[in-house]
Amino acid sequence: MTRLPPLTQSIPTPQALATLHVDLDALVANWRLLAARAAPAACAAVIKADAYGTGIAPAAQALAAAGCNTFFVAHLSEALRVREAAGPAPAIYLLNGLIDHADTLAALTHGHIRPVLVSPEQVRAWTNYRPRHGTRPSCAVQIDTGMNRFGLGVIQTETLAETIREVSPSLLMTHFVSSEYRDDPLNERQIERFERATARLPGIPRSMANSSGIFLPQQPFFDLVRPGYALYGGNPFPDQPNPMRPVVRLTAPILQLREVEAGETVGYNAQWTAKRRSRLAVIGVGYADGIPRNAMATETQPGGEAIVLGTRCPFAGRVSMDIIVIDVTDVTDAALAPGVEVELLNDVITVDDLASRSKTIGYEILTSLGRRYHRVYVSQGRPTPP
Ligand SMILES: *Cc1c(COP(=O)(O)O)cnc(C)c1O
Repeated sequence: MTRLPPLTQSIPTPQALATLHVDLDALVANWRLLAARAAPAACAAVIKADAYGTGIAPAAQALAAAGCNTFFVAHLSEALRVREAAGPAPAIYLLNGLIDHADTLAALTHGHIRPVLVSPEQVRAWTNYRPRHGTRPSCAVQIDTGMNRFGLGVIQTETLAETIREVSPSLLMTHFVSSEYRDDPLNERQIERFERATARLPGIPRSMANSSGIFLPQQPFFDLVRPGYALYGGNPFPDQPNPMRPVVRLTAPILQLREVEAGETVGYNAQWTAKRRSRLAVIGVGYADGIPRNAMATETQPGGEAIVLGTRCPFAGRVSMDIIVIDVTDVTDAALAPGVEVELLNDVITVDDLASRSKTIGYEILTSLGRRYHRVYVSQGRPTPP
């Protein structure tokens, strides 16, 4: 039996309780792979929600430098940050529609930001908008083919074809409901509806595919594809091997090691019981940092894991707000000690992996990535200041 270390060991004031490494080279490689797949259609980048939690300014800069000239965001604040980071050249589309307010209109005009118009009212409002300074930016029109969130219906689009033409959109777009399910008949139906809705608007560029859409057998690329998730290493088809490179890596130092006897429990509500004398590692990352509280093993499902000195180790008990306890009993490496960095996300434990172990999707893991992490951006093989 291995000799266990003293009951508790602590390290003095750690520099940071966790580090998020964002590999901008992998981000760019993923964009290039998607762009090559969709060619001759152009490839945009969806960088809403702080570039899916990875950092909107570094992502916009790296992608623009790689040749990406179209970005999609959800909020005006995001659009303004992309304009500042990526310079005057790229087209920036604002997905969440037009807010018909003088300040918003002025900001769109000043920043050359293109609203995605999502209703007949918004199309009319944009038609009537005459900025006092500068020229009215271009716009996109969203067509609803089944999502029933935003967009003009198919019949509405046909009826309003003349009005839409007057506003000279640079893009007609729609969005898939279930493209991550390759065989879902809804994919085909949406493609047909989009074709029908846009038939009376020839010559205007069209866009349909998100990340998973780029891998559909129908190749619904039209003129522009709009990947988000896959850029950040997410698997476009979670039940198949992932063609994308991982972009995020999350590491945290062990703050304390402790031993418990068989029968003792760990954490809130005593959800984990030691089946043997166990060694536990405590790290300063919790659900407030985006590791789901649900990332806990149950009778039927494996829970969250961390890699500790090369060994996969399960979380012990519930994830707390700021703390996770890891069962490191099986780690035989003598280097195990406070200060050792454990890996929570890497190319083995992916965002999709953590998501499925937490009963959510990788999109939610990425966009919940904590604000308390020390962030390191790697570009051209070198770390860059955030
Ligand atoms: C978020 C979003 C995308 C990107 O989708 P992914 O599945 O992340 O690739 C594309 N288009 C629209 C309209 C979106 O809202």
